Amino acid sequence: MKVFKFGGASVNSIERIQNLAGIIKLYEGDNLMIIISAMGKTTNALEKVVEAFFAERQQDALQLFEGIKKQHLTTAKYLLVTHFNSCIEQLSGFFTEVEWLLHDKPVRAYDYYYDQVVCIGELLSTCILSHYLNEIGIANKWVDVRDIIRTDDNFRDANIDWDYSAKKVLQLKEACFNEKSAPGGICITQGFIGSTDENESTTLGREGSDYTAAIFANLLDAESQTIWKDVEAVMSADPKQFPDAQVIHELSFDEVIEMAYYGAQVIHPKTIKPLQNKGIPLQVKCFLDPSLPGTVIYKKKIKHLPPIVIIKENQALMHLHSQDFSFVGEKPMSRLYELFAHIKIRPNLLQSGAISLQVCLDDKPEKIDQLAAEASSIFDVQVEKGLSLLTIRHFNEPLLNKMTEGKTIVLKQQDRETVQVLYAS
Ligand code: ASP
Ligand code: MG
Repeated sequence: MKVFKFGGASVNSIERIQNLAGIIKLYEGDNLMIIISAMGKTTNALEKVVEAFFAERQQDALQLFEGIKKQHLTTAKYLLVTHFNSCIEQLSGFFTEVEWLLHDKPVRAYDYYYDQVVCIGELLSTCILSHYLNEIGIANKWVDVRDIIRTDDNFRDANIDWDYSAKKVLQLKEACFNEKSAPGGICITQGFIGSTDENESTTLGREGSDYTAAIFANLLDAESQTIWKDVEAVMSADPKQFPDAQVIHELSFDEVIEMAYYGAQVIHPKTIKPLQNKGIPLQVKCFLDPSLPGTVIYKKKIKHLPPIVIIKENQALMHLHSQDFSFVGEKPMSRLYELFAHIKIRPNLLQSGAISLQVCLDDKPEKIDQLAAEASSIFDVQVEKGLSLLTIRHFNEPLLNKMTEGKTIVLKQQDRETVQVLYAS
């Protein structure tokens, strides 16, 4: 049993969808659990629909949604002949669900509506994909993941109910992947979404489809999970920023979780734990050329990695100064950490002195304002913006010097493995 995840870029055109089918054919005879994201930038477009709806610009919301509908209908029309009618019927059901909601006025919280509308992106893409694969002879079963992945009602960042979901995944396994009766079973389902025990749709956080795939891999005891991307493999830096970035063919779970923590956009950070816990290798492969080896991530310790460079832009530095010259001891520290938890903001870097602290955070303006306001009961607070955080794992001095040359450094922290430099952008 293999788990595959295809992201939005792998299904954003007719050619890409046909290409995806070609990849599936390479694995004929394997049991495949396939997790798919919304097509291209559909999730962003759906976010715009929710914004308009919540601002009570109903006509705008409906009009924006109309655009999304058209795009999917055009794709279905192009790809399907014999399966066209049944696909349209299913798509229409999803459209109606959203349109009903958009005709009402918002009375609940924003995040609730967000999830009810945004989840449609994955339902639409998988519906078209599943019909298309069936039409060209790749028999598969479409599964509404909301019947399988149960979550709490923490909308937009829902938490998995592992026990319930495990039972459902087992039932699915028996129905679809019964090795004796039907080898080579294929299930197509949605990433990123789930459902509460009251049948309300939820989402797992942006880019959450990698995580969905890892949940399935864990619960199915899969032999591997593969994330199909438009890059050759995991790279030592973003090749758009650094043309001499190197391909890395092997990584450990430990390394990847650190990379994700420091802000590398390789893999959704929550993806690693479910795989690591069961020792399931994670492959990153290129859907544009499946013959490339890609990257494999597993429990093995990997020696001699090249320097890995990660830049997080849009950082803010909060300077917190003791109000009465008393030491910044355990009490103010623990109070500060309580504030982080309560505001749901995570420090990217923290440095403390006798009577002051400096905290580097992602510059999300409402959260920064709230933190500054609440922290001002214990500290004098100043915020500096427009900063970037450079992290180099396995760094060497020449590279560090090259990368920081001419920059105004605001803060620097380093251990044997990793150096972090905050600088004015
Ligand atoms: N479609 C969702 C997003 O764009 C989930 C994903 O792609 O992983 O965030
Ligand atoms: Mg995506």
